[in-house]
Amino acid sequence: MLRFWFAVPLWQRVVAALVLGVITGLLWGPEAESIKWIGDFFIKSIKMLVVPLIFVSIVGGVASIGDLRKLGAVGWRAMVLFVVTGQIAVWLGLALGTIFAPGIGVDTSAIAAGATPEPVATSAVDMILSMVPESPVKVMADAQVLPLIVFALLIGIGIVMAKEEGQPLVRVFDSGSIVMQKVTMIVMELTPFGVFSLMAWVAGTLGQDALVALAKLVALNYLGCLLIIGVMYTAIIKFLARLPVRHFFRGIIDAMAVAYSTASSNATLPVTLRCAERNLGVSRPTASFVVSLGATINMDGTAMYLGLATLFGAQIFGIHLGFSDYIVISVLATLGSVGAAGIPGAGLIMMALVFGAVGVPLETIAFVAGVDRIMDMMRTATNVTGDSAVTTAVAVMTNEIDTAEMISADDV
Ligand code: ASP
Repeated sequence: MLRFWFAVPLWQRVVAALVLGVITGLLWGPEAESIKWIGDFFIKSIKMLVVPLIFVSIVGGVASIGDLRKLGAVGWRAMVLFVVTGQIAVWLGLALGTIFAPGIGVDTSAIAAGATPEPVATSAVDMILSMVPESPVKVMADAQVLPLIVFALLIGIGIVMAKEEGQPLVRVFDSGSIVMQKVTMIVMELTPFGVFSLMAWVAGTLGQDALVALAKLVALNYLGCLLIIGVMYTAIIKFLARLPVRHFFRGIIDAMAVAYSTASSNATLPVTLRCAERNLGVSRPTASFVVSLGATINMDGTAMYLGLATLFGAQIFGIHLGFSDYIVISVLATLGSVGAAGIPGAGLIMMALVFGAVGVPLETIAFVAGVDRIMDMMRTATNVTGDSAVTTAVAVMTNEIDTAEMISADDV
């Protein structure tokens, strides 16, 4: 029985749980609330991961940027492209969320928004003050993400400045990051149960309006990702790398397919590397450096989704967000996408980071968790395509590509 359970890929179990959950909720009605505790158990386990995951991955991410200096021309170009594409992606998510307002029209009175976090700050001065962690331990205990990020960034910078003497800590954080990814994978095994109960609860208590809102969110997630791939990455290949777009996509199609089915940039890494080197003709040192850095810190699909999902949460709970909140979201969603590990469900965990800062109820996570996997698959395919596009562009700019290889990608 157990063997049969694990023989079915996780995403298929999740999709089955989603369908069964919706049917159960529609048939059972408001009574379905009685199994919501299973979903709460799942969400609580996710929240447990937020602080350690953000901390180790941000410190590790900044510390690894220290290596950028070694790679000079390649390093800073990759970094600039990662940051610029990440920002464009978040603002695209915010634009889609504002224009199509997927969360408007859901009656959430049945949801006890007990988890509404206080916005961190009300004025610019408060905002600046709230970023200083008076006590790092307290900040961790209270899961205050903004000062936690500041603290993590400082530790990362300290490690880079300490050079050789900082290396033992680099190893500690690298290993911490790997361990946290394993722990996350254990928690992700709870997904089918969480999804079943949360979908039954959403469908049973909130009815069809809620399902329509979730369907809109999924559709916008796909639209956003397709725009990122079809417009932004296409422009990078066409205008920055000046290469034939068709050949680029043909060269990385394997990586996109693996990313879509595994929902993990990390698991796809070997395939992405192979595509970059063998099909696109990028030199090995550039490919391995930029692709692996990208798999950790460059996640445009995730950044876009974090912007979109925050507006979705604000809309379903009737929370007004002003332009200054949009700025906070754009910064935090970018940091969240940097901090997100390249594993399934990482984006879901990072939602807690952005929501907390602008006062969107954490209940939103329970609301969207049921459909997260379907969105995660597309986010991951986008993330991996972005890593490949940036790698190719940087390789062209630094003459680290053999385009003859790429042209022959016709017979990939
Ligand atoms: N699963 C995604 C990745 O591995 C991250 C996310 O959840 O958005 O790239």
